Amino acid sequence: MQSYYTASTAAVTGSGTLQGDQNADICIIGAGYTGLSSALHLAERGYSVIVLEAETIGHGASGRNGGHVGNGQRKDQNYLEKQFGEDIARLLWDMGLEAVDTVKQLINSHGIDCDLKQGILHLAHKKKYCGDLQHEVTHLRDRYSFDSMRYVPATELNQFLDVDAYYGGLLDSASLHLHPLKYCMGLAAAALKAGVKIYEHSRVTGYTQASPSVVSTASGRVSAREVVLACNGYIDKLEPKINGYIMPINNFVIATEPLSDDLAAAVSRQDTAMQDTRFVINYWKLSGDNRLIFGGGENYRRGFPADIKSFVRKYMLQIYPQLQSTTIDYGWGGTLAITLNRLPHFGRIGTNIWHMHGYSGHGVPTATFAGKLIAEAISGKLERFDTIANLPTMKFPGGTLLRWPGMVAGMLYFALRDRI
Ligand SMILES: Cc1cc2nc3c(=O)[nH]c(=O)nc-3n(C[C@H](O)[C@H](O)[C@H](O)COP(=O)(O)OP(=O)(O)OC[C@H]3O[C@@H](n4cnc5c(N)ncnc54)[C@H](O)[C@@H]3O)c2cc1C
Repeated sequence: MQSYYTASTAAVTGSGTLQGDQNADICIIGAGYTGLSSALHLAERGYSVIVLEAETIGHGASGRNGGHVGNGQRKDQNYLEKQFGEDIARLLWDMGLEAVDTVKQLINSHGIDCDLKQGILHLAHKKKYCGDLQHEVTHLRDRYSFDSMRYVPATELNQFLDVDAYYGGLLDSASLHLHPLKYCMGLAAAALKAGVKIYEHSRVTGYTQASPSVVSTASGRVSAREVVLACNGYIDKLEPKINGYIMPINNFVIATEPLSDDLAAAVSRQDTAMQDTRFVINYWKLSGDNRLIFGGGENYRRGFPADIKSFVRKYMLQIYPQLQSTTIDYGWGGTLAITLNRLPHFGRIGTNIWHMHGYSGHGVPTATFAGKLIAEAISGKLERFDTIANLPTMKFPGGTLLRWPGMVAGMLYFALRDRI
């Protein structure tokens, strides 16, 4: 299953497969945004770093996602203030802004060519959500002095897209969107340049909880003072102690053939990315060569639908009936990890096994930023890592075995509400 992203990206390759015994200050498991940004930030601080990737660089969600780089956290500030108080909510807001800025800075300083563009439009699929969007604009402006957002009434939506499926919108001009795999490869190239060794086709089968820890693959071992788990939705059974805090879910994307200028303008007149207020979000944007990249629909079991193109196309046509005769060139899926409260789950097992995951669909900025935080933490400055690690979090009820049925029932219920 080739994605548009793999078809349009020159792959960066690592140093082959891990063979024999090696030493490093830090061993990172997983070569997505979390692993690569951690590797880069740590190498820039002078640490020797080895990354072990089970498949290839960007194989996971980092090479498959929608490429939306949104401000804030996955939960809005109202929720964060109520749950954690104003001080923590403000820290989280500031970190959310810094996360987007970190993406921008990395792209600029390492010359990453990844179709970076500005602006995300959030669209209300029911009238009752318009009030929420308006409230968010005023709340962020009044409490956080954030004035890059504005409410777009239904009468002005045609300045952005030619459909009448939505009742209003919230334009965040400071959010970004990009080509996710090109961005991931750019991070990998920067990490390699900084001296990081990346071994692909090197699945970690286990590690010792000692200092140093010995991390094993089928053909080699890495002895490292610190280990960073950066596997997110692909962690499977590697670390049962943290597995119950996340739920892997699959989400699907299609890319159309390149659109005519008229159709491209109908899809996104100002080249903003878009996403709607549905529980199972529809999200889309134009690619660098005028294709519609459209994400919609998910499932909660192992395995993807046999025909992803048809699975996602029906959601696309609900919004853009004018694309009825447009060919779908690519369809693919990816796995992400969500948490119960939809906030990232960071922490430490013992003293030297670190984990960052559970970005709940907000990982382009947050996983990148996690790399900056782990570099601070391993260098002895724990405060900001701990702000996230100390957020109260819960396991999915039923543990790793039984979380599926309850979770699936809940997700399906909310997905059904989208349609009513
Ligand atoms: C379809 C889809 C759309 C999305 N859209 C958006 C979006 O628009 N905006 C946004 O902010 N977020 C989005 N996300 C979420 C975002 O992509 C993820 O949060 C982010 O990429 C997570 O990065 P990561 O590095 O933590 O994990 P991943 O990129 O998943 O990388 C984990 C890596 O770990 C490797 N691994 C696992 N186990 C082992 C092992 N035992 N040994 C060695 N390696 C191992 C895997 O092979 C994988 O490469 C989307 C996700 C999906 C799937």
